[in-house]
Amino acid sequence: MGPGPSDVSPRVLEALSRPTIGHLDPEFIGLMDEIKTLLHYAFKTNNELTIPVSAPGSAGMEACFVNLVSPGDKVIVCQNGVFGGRMKENVERCGGVAIMVEDSWGSPVDADKVKAAFSNNTDVKILAFVHAETSTGVESDAATLCRLAAENNALSIVDTVTSVAGIDVDVDGWGADAVYSGTQKCLSCVPGISPVTFSARAVEVISNRQHKVQSWFLDMQLVMGYWGGNTKRAYHHTAPVNAMYALHESLIMLKEEGLENSWARHQLNHRALVSGLEAMGLSMVVDAAHRLPQLNLVSIPEGADDAAVRGALLSQYSLEIGAGLGALAGNSWRIGLMGHASNQKNVLLCLSALDNVLTAQGAKIVSGVAVAAALAEYG
Ligand SMILES: *Cc1c(COP(=O)(O)O)cnc(C)c1O
Repeated sequence: MGPGPSDVSPRVLEALSRPTIGHLDPEFIGLMDEIKTLLHYAFKTNNELTIPVSAPGSAGMEACFVNLVSPGDKVIVCQNGVFGGRMKENVERCGGVAIMVEDSWGSPVDADKVKAAFSNNTDVKILAFVHAETSTGVESDAATLCRLAAENNALSIVDTVTSVAGIDVDVDGWGADAVYSGTQKCLSCVPGISPVTFSARAVEVISNRQHKVQSWFLDMQLVMGYWGGNTKRAYHHTAPVNAMYALHESLIMLKEEGLENSWARHQLNHRALVSGLEAMGLSMVVDAAHRLPQLNLVSIPEGADDAAVRGALLSQYSLEIGAGLGALAGNSWRIGLMGHASNQKNVLLCLSALDNVLTAQGAKIVSGVAVAAALAEYG
């Protein structure tokens, strides 16, 4: 129950162990096509260029920046946690100019500040932001931010690593241009693959680049020779065949459950966890309006030792929760309820284990009431 990787379902682990076949085997090409179709569903998009990058979420991030940012391009980067800072790094390493819009850790991106940044800067090429900040448990308003980008003739780059399958990700509805995700958060697949999708506008920018993409491996024009449309597939790199079996299975499981049902399950377990934590006397860090159901920030109560509590949860209950990061380090915990791990059993285990560990440490909490409060949410 940390900030990822989340628990991987037995079905996905079974898929991972199937025999490895050639990465240009007709069977594997068929599986690649199915993965692309399933990713259209997960991202809610019809974008033709929708593929899994053969590397973790960070590579999906990099794929979006290296293909879309050319030297000298101005990019507005929103930062309200760890991952916005990495976007800035990406822009600068591509030779772009990052115009930072900063919000405090624990708050969403402020659209008015983004609007002002567009007014104060001409020729902005791209707006980049994180939809679900895993470092703080905050959701930003992706629809509004993508609309602002489009109104200012800029492309949008959106990080949905933690959001896909946990909350609504509506790539076509938002009009987003380059969106990347990850397998190890709410998709409950093994770490190491990053689904990405590019709009027709983004593909046009990539096709008309004057500078070669600085990364050979992530150059979408080359990657498309392997993953692409109707032409004969050519060797680019050897896809992680078994990891693709796993991604395929996790996407089938998402389709079977249904996106809306998956979001509703994440909401329900989140509500139950919050009810239990609040009954215990703990307080949530993020305003209710911007909370991510899959990543819950809770304040560390008086009398509790951050590292000792997490250590006891791990050693006595085999339960991992995440430490706070940056401005939130030492005063909060990050409790993940992602994908397969977002279930009633985990919520109840976490609440009773926390109650026991905090009580043993003499922390100021109300003991013995959390599980009942959570159960009341399940009705
Ligand atoms: C986890 C995460 C990433 C990076 O993914 P990796 O698989 O660790 O490379 C990027 N952005 C966000 C918001 C994340 O939560």
